[in-house]
Amino acid sequence: MEYFSVVPKEDCPHVGNVPTSHTFSVRAACAECGDANENWVCCVCDTVCCGRHVNRHMLAHYEQTKHAVVLSFSDLSVWCYECDCYIVNHGVLGARLRDAHEQKFGAPPPESSSRRRGSSGSSGKDKGKGKGKAPAEPAPGTSP
Ligand SMILES: [Zn+2]
Ligand SMILES: [Zn+2]
Ligand SMILES: [Zn+2]
Repeated sequence: MEYFSVVPKEDCPHVGNVPTSHTFSVRAACAECGDANENWVCCVCDTVCCGRHVNRHMLAHYEQTKHAVVLSFSDLSVWCYECDCYIVNHGVLGARLRDAHEQKFGAPPPESSSRRRGSSGSSGKDKGKGKGKAPAEPAPGTSP
């Protein structure tokens, strides 16, 4: 079997095109075909479209609009069509991810993933290698 080596990118320049405000529902259906199984939301205009395993309307949306950055409702991963890979440095997308996570799970995401420095009191090294570097890697092979 093949290992799908998708390396998430940390410096996608297109994330900067994303507006800071957003309105979407993680339960929205595809704007084109109404499918509700595997949808993505465009982070630029909040259009919801289905992924490649359905009718690829999100890809069509990108080709029409060049809105490159999309967020998966399935696993809350972020994909950039321009970079053609997953994005892990979410920047302004953080608010969207939190909102989507709350809509999906009814609670905000755990904070352990982001870097939490300045712990209270402990000096020097605490319990070995507890580095929180991108723990929630998106499942490979689920690009839109
Ligand atoms: Zn990009
Ligand atoms: Zn669709
Ligand atoms: Zn769009």
